[in-house]
Amino acid sequence: MRGEEPVVVEALKARALPEGGCDKLLEFLRLYRDAVQIVVDRIWSINKKLSWKKLHRLFYSDLVSMGFRAHHAKEIYVYASSLVDSARSNGGRKPVLRRLSARVDKYDYRLDLDNMTLILKLHYAYEVKLRLIASKERVEKFRGWSNYELVVKYEDNEFWISVYFRRIVKPLKPKTVMAIDLNFDNVTITLFTLNGRLIRLKRFKTPHRKILTHKIWIERIQRRYPKSWRFIKGVRKAIERHGERIKNISWDYSHKIGDLIAILALKYQSVIILEDLEKLKENNKKDKRFNKKLGLWFYRRIQFCIEYEARERSLEVIKIDPRGTSSKCPRCGKKLVEDKHRVLRCRECGFMGDRDVVATLNIYKKFIKKHSRCGAPGVAPNTPKPNENTSGMRGEQR
Ligand SMILES: [Zn+2]
Repeated sequence: MRGEEPVVVEALKARALPEGGCDKLLEFLRLYRDAVQIVVDRIWSINKKLSWKKLHRLFYSDLVSMGFRAHHAKEIYVYASSLVDSARSNGGRKPVLRRLSARVDKYDYRLDLDNMTLILKLHYAYEVKLRLIASKERVEKFRGWSNYELVVKYEDNEFWISVYFRRIVKPLKPKTVMAIDLNFDNVTITLFTLNGRLIRLKRFKTPHRKILTHKIWIERIQRRYPKSWRFIKGVRKAIERHGERIKNISWDYSHKIGDLIAILALKYQSVIILEDLEKLKENNKKDKRFNKKLGLWFYRRIQFCIEYEARERSLEVIKIDPRGTSSKCPRCGKKLVEDKHRVLRCRECGFMGDRDVVATLNIYKKFIKKHSRCGAPGVAPNTPKPNENTSGMRGEQR
């Protein structure tokens, strides 16, 4: 099956001790930070999105004349541009860099895992050799993986590096299809055979309500101290506590659900189908499944964990366009109306089904459509029969 090739990415983090003193590396990190800031300032003032080509034309030769190598220069303007993009999309202010950290392309370092050393190429052709400190087991994991960029930073008087590795996993040939719908109350999973027979339906509750409660607390406090909450220690601490709870609840849940789903998918050798949340942005106002107050971050986090756990197990994950998945009839494609609480009905063909299950049926159908076009072997484009009974789903007999 053609899809995105499953790739597992992970970082090896290690403490790094420079041989022969820290001066040159510190000098490099300061120069790098200043260069990123200069580029950030200029992109910010240009105030529109620049292509890589344009970035290259604007900044490359200046950066090289500051003493940077070709790939340093590229890393700097790409990084600066991503900082500006994310600040703008969050409606934030211009980024100001304080920390000393640099991203280094694989052409500008040499890693020797046997001897645990790293040679970094710095500005003006300086080089520095670093001794790496990390556990043996941790390092062993990355044998046979391919490394690409690394990040070196200086924090609390210590140097740290994170080397990013990736590994392409050969996906298992799928025997079943698992469609996953994420919504405010549940994560709903349906499992189909390759010829469209529904074999399992499972639902997991989400902690969205709990998270929303903490969010409401934060907002209540901020409303009460609209200007001063940042500066009064007790108030700030209270907000941080709620924020911390949100973070813990969401990560715990995401890890757990990612693991559970991947275990199930491995048992059935499924290809996992998720909705592409990036495509949802434009029309998520219409989608009742997602709570506007919370936004999409939690759904992204859950998806991230599902994808990660699945790829670790050589399972393929495919994303489909979510448009219409929660509102169209999976049998005839017409618009569904709400019959009673959580149950949707088609006026055209009489189909009736639970809202979350309808979404998974449509997700499944979209996957079949997408992949029968590019000729996935062994996947028959059958419409799932909604009356093949599962709890919470009824189909009118005809
Ligand atoms: Zn219908």
